[in-house]
Amino acid sequence: MSILRVTKYGESILRQKLKPVDYKELAPKLPQLLKDMEETCLAVRGVGLAANQIGLDYRMALILIPESDEENAPLKRYVIINPKILSMRGEKIEEEGCLSLPGLWAEVKRATDVTIQYIDENGVEQVKRARGLLAKAFQHEVDHLDGKLFIDLLDPTLKPEIKKAIKKLRSKWN
Ligand SMILES: [Zn+2]
Repeated sequence: MSILRVTKYGESILRQKLKPVDYKELAPKLPQLLKDMEETCLAVRGVGLAANQIGLDYRMALILIPESDEENAPLKRYVIINPKILSMRGEKIEEEGCLSLPGLWAEVKRATDVTIQYIDENGVEQVKRARGLLAKAFQHEVDHLDGKLFIDLLDPTLKPEIKKAIKKLRSKWN
């Protein structure tokens, strides 16, 4: 197992809209890939990690999320391959960050209730309705796979401020 380097804002792969992958082609690589992605996600205390955040152009992401609201609840893993958001409902503004923009946090408007379709790590098609943190994670990760970052969702008037903040943070990124 290994902890992988997470790509950072400014690297072109984060701006790529990733094409669906062929599950059968991906399957042999999947066990090792998921181990590495999970280890990386845990090491950087992330909620999710998209393939382009580790430099791969697969349309897939991994999400690690507490099973319940209880303290120290075990983490549940979602592997979403070729995900597609089928519907979005509700609206909530909450603080959000991203492993590819470490140190930057901003209030982002997201749907509170989403239904997503994807292929799971066993190759089975799933349709899942999610609320709360999981709904937010699904939206954040699907955005990554579409080449979007959470800062794209901010009010355009905040752009100069965000640019300045990124400039400052950048020197600390690896
Ligand atoms: Zn992110």
